[in-house]
Amino acid sequence: MSNEPNAENPDILYKFHKGPIKHKAVGLPAIISSFRHTFSQAGIARSLKALARVNQKGGFDCPSCAWPDPDDERSGIAEYCENGAKAIADEITTKKLTPEFFAKNAIKDLAGQTDKDIGSHGRIAQPMYLPKGATHYQPISWEDAFSRIGTALNGLENPNQAIFYTSGRTSNEAAFLYQLFAREYGTNNLPDCSNMCHESSGVALTESLGLGKGSVRLDDLYVAEVIVIMGQNPGTNAPRMLTALEKAKHNGATIISVNPLPETGLMSFRNPQHVKGILGIATPLTDLYLPIKLNGDMALLQAIELLLWLEEQKAPGTVFDTGFIRDHTVGYGEFLAHLKQIDLSELAEACGLSIADIGKAAAILKDKKRIIVCWAMGLTQHTNAVDTIKEVANLLLLKGSIGKPGAGTCPVRGHSNVQGDRTVGIWEKPKPAFLQSLEKVFGFRPPYEHGYDVVDSIRAMHEGKASVFFAMGGNFLSATPDTTYTAMALRQCSLTVHVSTKLNRSHLVHGEEALILPCLARSDRDFTGGSQQFVSCENSMGVVQSSEGILNPVSTHLMSEPAIVCHLAKATLGKRPQGSVVNWDRYLASYDAIREDIEKTIPGFESYNLRVREPGGFYLPNPNREGRFATPDQKAHFNVAKLTHIPLESGQLMMMTVRSHDQFNTTIYGLDDRYRGVYNERRVIFLNEQDISEQGLKPGDVVDIHNDHGGIRRTAHRFIVIPYPIPRSCAATYYPETNVLVPIDTVAAKSNTPVSKLVIIRIERSV
Ligand code: SF4
Repeated sequence: MSNEPNAENPDILYKFHKGPIKHKAVGLPAIISSFRHTFSQAGIARSLKALARVNQKGGFDCPSCAWPDPDDERSGIAEYCENGAKAIADEITTKKLTPEFFAKNAIKDLAGQTDKDIGSHGRIAQPMYLPKGATHYQPISWEDAFSRIGTALNGLENPNQAIFYTSGRTSNEAAFLYQLFAREYGTNNLPDCSNMCHESSGVALTESLGLGKGSVRLDDLYVAEVIVIMGQNPGTNAPRMLTALEKAKHNGATIISVNPLPETGLMSFRNPQHVKGILGIATPLTDLYLPIKLNGDMALLQAIELLLWLEEQKAPGTVFDTGFIRDHTVGYGEFLAHLKQIDLSELAEACGLSIADIGKAAAILKDKKRIIVCWAMGLTQHTNAVDTIKEVANLLLLKGSIGKPGAGTCPVRGHSNVQGDRTVGIWEKPKPAFLQSLEKVFGFRPPYEHGYDVVDSIRAMHEGKASVFFAMGGNFLSATPDTTYTAMALRQCSLTVHVSTKLNRSHLVHGEEALILPCLARSDRDFTGGSQQFVSCENSMGVVQSSEGILNPVSTHLMSEPAIVCHLAKATLGKRPQGSVVNWDRYLASYDAIREDIEKTIPGFESYNLRVREPGGFYLPNPNREGRFATPDQKAHFNVAKLTHIPLESGQLMMMTVRSHDQFNTTIYGLDDRYRGVYNERRVIFLNEQDISEQGLKPGDVVDIHNDHGGIRRTAHRFIVIPYPIPRSCAATYYPETNVLVPIDTVAAKSNTPVSKLVIIRIERSV
């Protein structure tokens, strides 16, 4: 039994009960849940004040997912969803962690709590420091904190021994300064949460279409003929998307949902903005639900393309947009040659669907042109994810469904500014053009050698190649794979630093020394420089808009993320013989200065300070949206990919990690998963009934889950068996509890994204 504080959630089981799977999403229960969460955390007045301004023009941006706000009218009642309200409750809470709390609570004791309980203690009220060998955090002044970090960073043999992680909550302004600091410091070690989520989308779309972002706007969904939703659970992870799907349905769209689980938010929607919805009357959404096997998506897409081609042969030019293919694409010949020799029944077998059901999807798509494909982690977290997403592009290219209204690609980003962070330079693989622009604007030569992404950062820390870990937001330990391995990596560090709003497990699994720097949240007013400042974010569809806090922070000892970076830079670069060429005080005086320099450095931000003040902000350029492809040959590229077969030995299953409805990334709001009928428990494993009996188990049994990749036994203890409508040999559990089972070296080709959607497991009854 290690003497180290828990790196994982304790395997405590609660008084769990199972209810029916819900078939109607949102409605009155969502309203009640929203107010219950906010009022219990912040009281009525503070809650209503925040809820009235979130996602409103001139208000503050929801800190949760990156679903866009309507360009035109925003709802006067509520421009947020239940999970947005939970995220807001989480940050507007009036509960705060004072030095007294930390003096009373040893790290080891805190680590014995679940992630939910750790996160429920409140907002961190002032900077905290953990000296080498200490068991309790203690207060520290900002000045001393920055001085300690500066000394540690300047004490490293080379800058690549430091890692600067970014979570998707970080604003454009803070992210731009953060990358500027890291690069003047001398490293590209800028991993971010995108490495674990849509990196595969970025790689695939860049290679196929010339841009690593989605092409559609929100109003394209309203006019689409067909919307295909693959590997995504919008009801929990982007709930306002249901409003857009309802509008699309009212305008005649057909929705095809492809998901191993019959997620409630895909089935029907009770719009809480309408009396009908509050009375429980739902709009049916999905017309065709395809319960696909894990990682069956590429096989399904190829099967659909094959059936469409058979129809195209009967009436050339009526199914495929041959003009578009001729004028705008390359590689069609090779693609078709490959398609012709694939066996349809082999594809049906690989995706676990009948040819009849696949045929229904092809029939829906056959005569349509305005087709949008939406996707999320169910596509991006597989070994062949990049090829699968290129297959999505293949299908859309065949139909000419790119660069026209109602058509295109729609990777739905999971964190409010994850796309913006990448746009303003948070990337371990920066393009030379961006680095040259930095050098031109700031007069220093940035490093060109690529840095570590998330997986490589963990390895580097584990191997002692990196020893200072700095995280701008997030909960690195709980969000990353192979928890035991990652914990050892973080513990190898001489210093770990987290910029955070609330306590999380990453603060409890730390380096020799550790620091927590408490920052202002989105809803907090920011008076850096003596006048109120605002920041900006970019949503999934490339809209940049302002976000201005409206609440008084819970503590006067908090600092904004941009200010933290400026002081960090002054305490590090400022202490070097050559000093810093950047005038960080200029940014501390006004964030307009940050936006001026973003405008000088990055194309698309012209008149940034003017346009970001316009109600609703502005769209960044998107060539795909105009039917242009910024690939080297200005053409869209068809891709040829072979199926990858995943052999299972007897007794083995394929497991995916998912979120419950009471969770956002690694932040746990509650123990219920209302839509899936799970109440008061998180240590559950969803299994097909036949697999349960074949495993010699019965519903309610408590099992341990093992992964033996690379000859290493990884175990997640004590999970309750739940029968669920999931394809044979497939299983689902919640993260972060089962991230311990995800091997560090099972990653997606090209994107290096951890494969959290297909983990080979064995289960056995717990002793
Ligand atoms: S859909 Fe996403 S961004 Fe919008 S309110 Fe909900 S959680 Fe926030």
